[in-house]
Amino acid sequence: MKPVKDTDEKIKNYASRLKLTFIRDHLPELISAATDAHFTPRETIEYLFAKEAEQREVNRIKLATMGAHFPYDCTLESFDIAAQPSIEPGIIRELSKVEWIKNGENVLFLGPPGVGKTHLAIGLGRRAVQYGYSVRFISASNLLSSLEKAKKEGTLLQKINDYFKYKLLIIDELGYLPFEPSASHLLYQLVNKRYLAKSTIITSNRPPSEWGLIFGDSSCATAILDRLLHKCTSVTILGDSYRIKEAKKTKLENET
Ligand code: ADP
Ligand code: MG
Repeated sequence: MKPVKDTDEKIKNYASRLKLTFIRDHLPELISAATDAHFTPRETIEYLFAKEAEQREVNRIKLATMGAHFPYDCTLESFDIAAQPSIEPGIIRELSKVEWIKNGENVLFLGPPGVGKTHLAIGLGRRAVQYGYSVRFISASNLLSSLEKAKKEGTLLQKINDYFKYKLLIIDELGYLPFEPSASHLLYQLVNKRYLAKSTIITSNRPPSEWGLIFGDSSCATAILDRLLHKCTSVTILGDSYRIKEAKKTKLENET
């Protein structure tokens, strides 16, 4: 019989060539776990591949989450739905299945500051990453300035293509700042290209009826809205800021 050390080295070499990096880096632990569990040779092979695949999935989610540029870390699970009675829980349950992304549909979160629009958008974005979709989060003002910069530099088409490739684009805080009509036309080009093919989540503190004011051009606003709202779930969140509500609750608890 060949020495175990030689065989291990050979397995590691093969694992390296085949890019099975988890097996390569954890071979002794994996072999002893399989031995302790009295696995058959078949079960051992299955176990090794399962561990490799599991680790690859963890790495994929980590990388895709970093690439999405979420502004903070939160999940759908950490959203306290009972604190926001204006949201129908069934809608969030349905959205969390991310079927709408398969169909290139959109989601609009509307409501005053602090009610959880961005939290829900990030939560859905992270869920989409888990399902294997490419996701990019960006504030409306950063998106617009990057499109304007690209236009000045003569790289607009390339920039629009960059944003086009994400299966889910999250545009946060539309309406906090008004746009120049020229910027609105750039947004229209992007929305038009993504229309029916790719999904967009938009969060806004202004109802769509006021978007003409945000965009500084009502016909452009109508054209953008037409495409966004055609296949869209709108969630309007009413009520007070969650943080202010929580702060008041804590203050009351401390006083009693
Ligand atoms: P906005 O509607 O302005 O986008 P955010 O989603 O950023 O508000 O929410 C503000 C803060 O309050 C965030 O830290 C978010 O995680 C938290 N938050 C808001 N609503 C809830 C909720 N229902 N459950 C848990 N955290 C919430
Ligand atoms: Mg927000």
